[in-house]
Amino acid sequence: MNMKLTNTLSTMLDDPRLFRQHAYVNGKWTHGDGGREETVFDPATGEVIGYIPWLEAHQIREAVDAADAAFVHWRALRADERAERLMAWHDLLQAHREDLAIIMTLEQGKPLPDARGEVEYGASFVRWFAEEGKRTFGETIPSHIPNAALGTLKEPVGIATLITPWNFPLAMITRKAAAALAAGCTVVVKPAGETPFSALALAELAERAGIPAGVFNVVLGEPAEVSKILCAEERVKALSFTGSTRVGRLLLEQSAQTVKRVSLELGGNAPFIVGPDMDPKEAAFAAVAAKFQTAGQDCLAANRILVHESIHDEFVEHFAERMAALTVGNGMESEVDLGPLIHRQAVDKAAAIVDDAISRGATLVAGDQTRAPGENFFMPVLLTGVTPQMKVWREENFAPVAGVTAYRDDDEVIEMANDTEYGLAAYVYTHDIRRIWKLLRALEYGMVSVNSVKMTGPPVPFGGVKQSGLGREGGITGIDEYLETKYYCLGALGSVSGS
Ligand code: NAD
Repeated sequence: MNMKLTNTLSTMLDDPRLFRQHAYVNGKWTHGDGGREETVFDPATGEVIGYIPWLEAHQIREAVDAADAAFVHWRALRADERAERLMAWHDLLQAHREDLAIIMTLEQGKPLPDARGEVEYGASFVRWFAEEGKRTFGETIPSHIPNAALGTLKEPVGIATLITPWNFPLAMITRKAAAALAAGCTVVVKPAGETPFSALALAELAERAGIPAGVFNVVLGEPAEVSKILCAEERVKALSFTGSTRVGRLLLEQSAQTVKRVSLELGGNAPFIVGPDMDPKEAAFAAVAAKFQTAGQDCLAANRILVHESIHDEFVEHFAERMAALTVGNGMESEVDLGPLIHRQAVDKAAAIVDDAISRGATLVAGDQTRAPGENFFMPVLLTGVTPQMKVWREENFAPVAGVTAYRDDDEVIEMANDTEYGLAAYVYTHDIRRIWKLLRALEYGMVSVNSVKMTGPPVPFGGVKQSGLGREGGITGIDEYLETKYYCLGALGSVSGS
């Protein structure tokens, strides 16, 4: 192990114990029995920031054993007792925000202010579900059976496996785990190998918050190997996955054998529709904000920007001007807007998507890659004249590549916007109420944001339709993914008035 570099990360933290290089199973920091490990790099510099073990099959099963044993006690706590521990976890996330943000920027690459924002965002779900856990009400059902009382109870489904991506390494875990824990479930988390340290810091803080051993486990390993074991496990009752549509389909198939409760938050390919009544500058600035967060590695990124032909040219000018003002660099430096992409393959994929668009007739308005400050960096690109035949239209590019197209009328733009297998989020910019209503109803997306770039947060049901997923996270229904409804019929009660 390269001690010098891994020590560097520890020395940057106020609390070095937040930087853990072991899996966390049954309240213990665990080595891999087979000696396999994975190296974790800082995508901005290519330096090694640490190592994580890969657990063996029997160790993954031990995590399930631990979650199974802990479930008995965790579910038996009162909702307000679980809420107290979740609030303690929330408070610790807030108290260690700066350290968590540093860990995140080093492993993921996003600018430090964005990482701080993600810690806040991630913590906000813990607070939300700490409260929601206290409101998992059942129902009283007016009885159709003589002398009987009918109703429902809400009960935790059991062990939940949570598999998460690298683009939001902390919030994608808390959005799931807080809901599951509040419901009374125990969890086995499998974070992305690129960004394990945020997940492990969450485990350290969960322990300090009094979340008992076995309730929150973090397993690390070869992704396909780990998921096969967890999906085949009958004791795992729910699987919640955030990641690519390709892997989501695989996990859905694997979960079929044990008929799990499956929630999938998959890819997106968001349209950003600009109506003819819009101020082109205002719309262009909003589109830049909606496209380039996390260097475009965001499932909500505005990939296909559809602008009414009457304002298209002016919009493109403003977009290019705003895009040129974005600073690309190491997220640890101040004044950086876009950090690196997660690894070199992502840069190669982005370059191939741009080349494909140009070869099929798109115009490269801006995006000079010779100015990239390092090998994992990709300068923002603006393409115009993009068409449905191009990869930039069809694929989720997950890079700072924006494609603009002009449209003639509302019917045409609806058809264009829906022309994708994805259905996560769409943006609409117009002040015409009739157009807003028409688009809102016609867009085949789980989320539509009108005249606002920001759309997410704890109170809203986050999720997609079509190949963008199943289920919703957050909001008042997010906890339902981890609850069973148990119907009861209490018969032979004698005369029950009003039943
Ligand atoms: P990914 O699908 O490659 O990986 C996600 C997780 O699955 C990781 O933990 C990874 O280790 C694991 N994994 C990878 N291959 C696997 C396999 N063969 N079997 C089992 N597990 C496997 O996705 P990513 O590249 O980490 O993240 C980017 C994707 O996530 C994008 O498509 C993005 O849109 C999506 N995403 C969606 C949301 C949402 O809420 N809808 C949020 C963030 C990211």
